[in-house]
Amino acid sequence: MTDQDQPQHEAIIIGAGVAGIYQMYRLQELGIDATVLEAADGPGGTWYWNRYPGARFDSESYTYGYSFSKELLDEWEWSEHFAGQPETLRYLNHVVDKFDLRRHMQFGCKVAGASFDEEGSFWTVHLEDGREITGRFLLTAIGMLSAATLPNIEGVDSFEGEAWHTYYWPHDPVELDGKRVAVIGTGATGVQVISEIADKVGELTVFQRRPNWCAPLHNAPIDQPTQAQIKASYDEIFEICRQTPGGFLHGPDPRKFRDVPEEERLTLWQKLYETPGFSKWMSNFIDVGINPEANAEYSEFIANKIRERVNDPMTAEKLIPKDHGFGTRRVPLETHYFEAYNRGNVHLIDINETPIERITPKGVQTTYQEFEFDLIIYATGFDAITGAFDRISFTGVDGVALRDQWADGPDTFLGMGTTGFPNLLMLSGPQGGSVSTNYPRGIETSVDWITDLLCYMRDHGYRRVESREDAELEWLQHVQEMYQFQLMSKVKSWFTGYNSNVEGHDTIRYQIYPGGAPRYRERLEEVASSGYEGFKLT
Ligand code: NAP
Repeated sequence: MTDQDQPQHEAIIIGAGVAGIYQMYRLQELGIDATVLEAADGPGGTWYWNRYPGARFDSESYTYGYSFSKELLDEWEWSEHFAGQPETLRYLNHVVDKFDLRRHMQFGCKVAGASFDEEGSFWTVHLEDGREITGRFLLTAIGMLSAATLPNIEGVDSFEGEAWHTYYWPHDPVELDGKRVAVIGTGATGVQVISEIADKVGELTVFQRRPNWCAPLHNAPIDQPTQAQIKASYDEIFEICRQTPGGFLHGPDPRKFRDVPEEERLTLWQKLYETPGFSKWMSNFIDVGINPEANAEYSEFIANKIRERVNDPMTAEKLIPKDHGFGTRRVPLETHYFEAYNRGNVHLIDINETPIERITPKGVQTTYQEFEFDLIIYATGFDAITGAFDRISFTGVDGVALRDQWADGPDTFLGMGTTGFPNLLMLSGPQGGSVSTNYPRGIETSVDWITDLLCYMRDHGYRRVESREDAELEWLQHVQEMYQFQLMSKVKSWFTGYNSNVEGHDTIRYQIYPGGAPRYRERLEEVASSGYEGFKLT
């Protein structure tokens, strides 16, 4: 092979978010030549884009930062237990500058497609501006919730006021004071927006299709003694995150619901409700997510909390989910969300009773009336996990398109690779561990594992890696098994791949790895120590 046939880079990383930043750090550390291509004009990924009012962590800040550098841990001070978006974006920029990663990053580079060159075993990445860049390995750090979806409601383009999808919230402040504002969508994003702007706008009308089981975040500033204590206990914090299924500080109570007397159950649930963060979801009795009886009783406990917090009983009932139990969809954490509905300027429209017919130039037309607005906020979510892959035209061996291969749902081995797409390694791929855990904790696992694989290949003279079909099939069966015994597998959400705004996403798709981070890591370690069994290395 002549030099001209050699790719320009050993690795191309698509995306400069949490995953891309750490992957670039590891490759730079090893002296492996790589470049990061990022569509935005700065790093940060999800924290670059999601600038909507109220955007903040649901993870404890100190469990979300990177764990790889003691110096970074010692110098960075999170101001709140659950930091807001501007602070997180500052943090990620700080990491990029501290480790001198910006020189490897190319911003404003939107990737349109990537095709595998079989003869040379490398990828050619096609940018929207017409440029092409080649790399031996293509590492996707394209995010799990980065393909925003507008609602498939007629007339979305016809509205003459201001309208934003939360993901694309502008950099300049949006005037809210005295405005008539609509929010469509009541997932984790909608709940944060509604809570934040209820007392800042003129009138706020919330269009709700399905309510979610929201529970209090209990955020607070971090005082100096706590700051010192956090810094002194980082080893312990990360160790707890390693042990828990979700990579959080919150692990399950090992007891089964029925083994605990009712009074004691209620005492635990009250304590969880008062504890910050995801404890009320993740520190519950071990069978609350799998035993319908346990789940129903806990859901009723939370429903009563909603009834206590919302003054109007009819509104309270509308805000209580009736079609799924607690924790079977992503639990939005909130700050005074339910209290927002006690305000005179906040109106809840249940669009099951009066469906939205269309967006009009003036606002929203339901079957009951036309509402006029100055601003419409679409908190309508994402084509989760596979959406970001579908929006890039990946072409593998024999010209097969990844979006065709995954049309009925993704097939991967460990969420890291997919047959027919050699040297395409996915940091937040479907059915992988990082998409089902506290993201940076899962990402550090994926990046470290992929980096070890690249080193192994370099040391053994391999230049092509591809997951095997039989390994993928076995992985899919395992993933399906992990889904099946959990109540969440029966509920429509992005965990199960449903999205009413994406054609064909109306049956279950196995999107995440629901077996927990420790089990996932165990499998990764087995595969690595067997010389990457399940992958073809050539
Ligand atoms: P989401 O959970 O998918 O919620 C989208 C909302 O829009 C739902 O209420 C949905 O109703 C509604 N919707 C969608 N299409 C609609 C249509 N055509 N007509 C009417 N309503 C429609 O999306 P998200 O709230 O953006 O959250 C996505 C994920 O992002 C979260 O689960 C979480 O993992 C992450 N997130 C994290 C944080 C954080 O860490 N703090 C904050 C925000 C988001 P249905 O429920 O009926 O489908």
